[in-house]
Amino acid sequence: MKEGVCHFKNFINGEYVEPIDKKYLANFDPSVGEIYSYVPDSNEKDINEAVKAAKEAFPSWSSKSSQERSDMLYKIANELERRLKEFAELESRDQGKTITTASSIEIPRSIYNFRFFAGAILHHQNESTIGPIPNVLNYTLRSPLGVCGLISPWNLPLYLLTWKIAPAIATGNTCVCKPSEMTPATAHLLGEVFNTVGLPRGVVNIVFGNGPNAGSPLVRHQNVPLISFTGGTKTGEIIQQQASPLNKKLSLELGGKNPGIIFDDCKFEECVETSIRSSFSNQGEICLCTSRLYVQEGIYDKFVEQFVEKTKKIVLGNPQSEKSGMGALISEDHLKKIEYYVQLAKDEGGTILCGGKRPDLSTILGGSENEKLKNGYFYEPTVITGLNPLTSRVLKEEIFGPVITITSFSTEEQVIQYANDVEYGLASSLWSQNVDRCHRVASKIECGICWVNCWLIRDLRTPFGGVKRSGIGREGGDHSIDFFTEQKNICIKIGN
Ligand code: NAD
Repeated sequence: MKEGVCHFKNFINGEYVEPIDKKYLANFDPSVGEIYSYVPDSNEKDINEAVKAAKEAFPSWSSKSSQERSDMLYKIANELERRLKEFAELESRDQGKTITTASSIEIPRSIYNFRFFAGAILHHQNESTIGPIPNVLNYTLRSPLGVCGLISPWNLPLYLLTWKIAPAIATGNTCVCKPSEMTPATAHLLGEVFNTVGLPRGVVNIVFGNGPNAGSPLVRHQNVPLISFTGGTKTGEIIQQQASPLNKKLSLELGGKNPGIIFDDCKFEECVETSIRSSFSNQGEICLCTSRLYVQEGIYDKFVEQFVEKTKKIVLGNPQSEKSGMGALISEDHLKKIEYYVQLAKDEGGTILCGGKRPDLSTILGGSENEKLKNGYFYEPTVITGLNPLTSRVLKEEIFGPVITITSFSTEEQVIQYANDVEYGLASSLWSQNVDRCHRVASKIECGICWVNCWLIRDLRTPFGGVKRSGIGREGGDHSIDFFTEQKNICIKIGN
């Protein structure tokens, strides 16, 4: 192990502790391709300790009033906000995302996740019914389940982890979190926030490590009745197999291959601008990013020309610089995966209109720092045309990087067929000024969310999740409260 490099620890029962077997994994800074920290390579023993702590904390935490829990969530949000800059810098370094994305979108959203559920839990009402059976009152009791297992990916590390922690603890559960081993930094710092605001010990425990050694024992643990997982579809399959025999409550937010459908009558400039964002935000490493654009014939040439022109202006650079429009990919393996798919696109007869390679150092922002970035995992934003819409693998498999395909279409029926001809169904976007058509097409696209004339606007009360192989279950607002609680019907006969 490299000298002088920081070692993260697990956060169990309110304390930072070394993994029991004292094993660690290397964690790389994606912008320079060097190890900058070590993260616990935890295993079943560490998970057992964390579950034990969470189980012990449950009776007291779950019996607090929702007002007390809400107050605590607000305190967490305020403390996170006070340390926003520190969190944003860490997230950017750890993941390769630009500091602008981290400080203006992701950490603010993490703060909002706590505020949102702090409010939601106060305003949530349980249903009660009277009639149609005479003299009978029904009401619903909601109880937390116990220890929740929360497993999150590397692309939006704190944003997605807090999207799970906040509703889990707001509803009275305690939890064991297993963040991605590739992006441990902000989860690690979150423990400090919990201790500063006085979150009772054991309510949130954070165990680092890889999927098979740390994630899997959490999924299989007898005392963890609920798993909320966000990550790849293949991993989701394994988790489903492991959790099913134990009848666990399961939410799976998985991969996507999101279409953007653009009709001739769209608001052109706005559509091009937003489609650039939806394709390349966070290096294309957002599950909701558009990865296939379908553009109607009448505006196809003009759209492609302007889209490519604007793509070429995206400035790659040091993620920590505010001048950078795009940072580095998460890992060397992921960079190789992107290269594989671009080569596949060429093999399939596609045309690379821009990008399609690692950038020359001279074109990366950073001045004298350029030299340091030479081993970073940078890849130019890439636009591909000319692929067969029905047979191309590039149009069907998840790439999850700065690669967008553009395909032309003529009719509504045809584009609906193209859009739905994949195994995924997470998100879509749709551009037209014809209101009837927007409603018609939006209802036919197989996905969990369809943005019409916009992208990535999220009202956290709305249901979030995917169809087909993009997942199972919905989270958000009441859907999260449903997921993180068990409902019991109390039926009372009212005597005369
Ligand atoms: P991944 O599936 O490799 O890992 C996700 C998490 O699961 C990590 O913490 C990992 O350690 C853990 N894990 C891996 N194997 C496991 C196992 N057998 N048991 C338990 N845990 C295990 O995904 P990733 O590469 O970190 O993230 C990228 C993927 O996540 C993409 O497919 C992307 O589309 C998807 N994603 C989906 C959403 C959504 O909301 N639908 C959001 C973000 C990312």
